[in-house]
Amino acid sequence: MAHWVKCYFCGKVFDADKEEYIMATARRYAHKSCAENYVDYKGKIHSLMKGLLGVEYSASRIESQIKRIKDQEKTTEEEIYKTLDYWYNILNNSTEKANGGIGIVPFILGQYRKWAADQESNSRINKNKKISDYVGETIIVEGRIEPIKKPRHVKYYELS
Ligand SMILES: [Zn+2]
Repeated sequence: MAHWVKCYFCGKVFDADKEEYIMATARRYAHKSCAENYVDYKGKIHSLMKGLLGVEYSASRIESQIKRIKDQEKTTEEEIYKTLDYWYNILNNSTEKANGGIGIVPFILGQYRKWAADQESNSRINKNKKISDYVGETIIVEGRIEPIKKPRHVKYYELS
């Protein structure tokens, strides 16, 4: 007899007698692989913004903004997090106008998507190149965005 359950993470229905599962909560089943690969992007959005905004940070405002942005922009918590990371950590923009929240996301999402697509094509182009021949200003290393480190010219008198 099959034991049909719905995965807590991916939402797909599967047979718990045939596929490996874990209990995600006391009652909710999840694919083992979904649980292992799960990243809590909502939690990451909150901790990123808490660190950036300090006393201005409003958990309840950000919570309702995440929900609204997901609905209106057809995006995910992962993409919202990556957009904010791009805007504040990579471009180093100020949080002066953030007003305790993430209302900026719909305005910068298009720019982030274009940049992310460029990054991906650059990393494809750069795959078999030496670092000094890399195209673009940043690359993705093991899923993380890293600035390209141009090799510094070492002067002989600096060698010890
Ligand atoms: Zn799943």
